[in-house]
Amino acid sequence: MQINLISDTVTKPSKGMLEAMMNAQVGDDVFKQDPTVNALEERIAKMFGKQRALFFPSGSMANQVAIKLHTNPSEQVICDKFAHIYNYEAGGVSFHSGVSCKLIDGDRGMFTAAQVKEAINPSDFYYSQTSLVAIENTTNKGGGACWSFDELKKIKEVCNDNNFGYHLDGARLWNAMVETNELPKDYGQLFDTISVCFSKGLGCPIGSVLVGDEVIMEHAIRVRKLFGGNMRQVGYLAAAADYALDHHLDRLVDDHIKAKRLGVALEDSSLIEKVEPIETNIVIFNVNQGVNENEFVQKLAAKNILLVSMGEGKLRMVTHLDVTNAMIDKVVDEIGKLNRPI
Ligand SMILES: *Cc1c(COP(=O)(O)O)cnc(C)c1O
Repeated sequence: MQINLISDTVTKPSKGMLEAMMNAQVGDDVFKQDPTVNALEERIAKMFGKQRALFFPSGSMANQVAIKLHTNPSEQVICDKFAHIYNYEAGGVSFHSGVSCKLIDGDRGMFTAAQVKEAINPSDFYYSQTSLVAIENTTNKGGGACWSFDELKKIKEVCNDNNFGYHLDGARLWNAMVETNELPKDYGQLFDTISVCFSKGLGCPIGSVLVGDEVIMEHAIRVRKLFGGNMRQVGYLAAAADYALDHHLDRLVDDHIKAKRLGVALEDSSLIEKVEPIETNIVIFNVNQGVNENEFVQKLAAKNILLVSMGEGKLRMVTHLDVTNAMIDKVVDEIGKLNRPI
């Protein structure tokens, strides 16, 4: 039995999901004739109280298209130094949109309205013009942390005052909403564009959606085409997303409980220096100085428990749909056994 805690992207479609995919009605989405993807886009738009939604093959593409829609070349995007759009999208913001990032030194991937104000460039001609603020909720590199909704509202005011776009990378927004009891419409009211992933905690093989109102989304489909992201009988994938919304959303709380159990076991381990606060399904921790992190990973791998090293002594475990309570029992047990010097 392999226990894969590398990411919540490692899940495989469940039997029910595969059946839903097999039974999907499909058509050519380039001609807008795929009823399943059309229905999914409408469902997500309604859910967030927005006018339009567009299906994407990846969260990176949805984010990159959003950034393109919000900016002109030479402009600047304010985001956290941990942001996925900055760290893990291959430098796409500069490649696709010709923009740079002004990085905020935040707390676990989160920052304040005051920090946004400080990060805005002056209007003098020799500065890059700030045009977008990008948020990530939950934060990935920040360990699945959830933003304070009040702070997000304050940042929205700064955006309004300065005529900035406001984009939310909501790859794991589902986890945040389940944890904090916030609603998609709350987020829809606040942000101009939101990307959400179905391939993370919701357990789909592929799929993301970008939502926004008519004006900003008008050219989204053209930019998606420019990026090579047009698809044909994609309803098979939209059917998986639809199934996930019906069956895999509420259960995310279970993943959060499991992550906390892992956290307790790690806190108890003499090999671990620090466990980051656990709010959702991501557990980030540091091994003690003198403990070799790669050896730690290998020892667990030898027990069929997989996790990733993030460098600098930081390690990560992520819980998801395919991690059972019995698997967590086993991981807790093995972490306990490692307490003896490696
Ligand atoms: C996973 C993720 C994405 C999208 O990743 P893809 O692999 O391109 O789907 C975007 N933002 C965050 C915060 C993520 O964790």
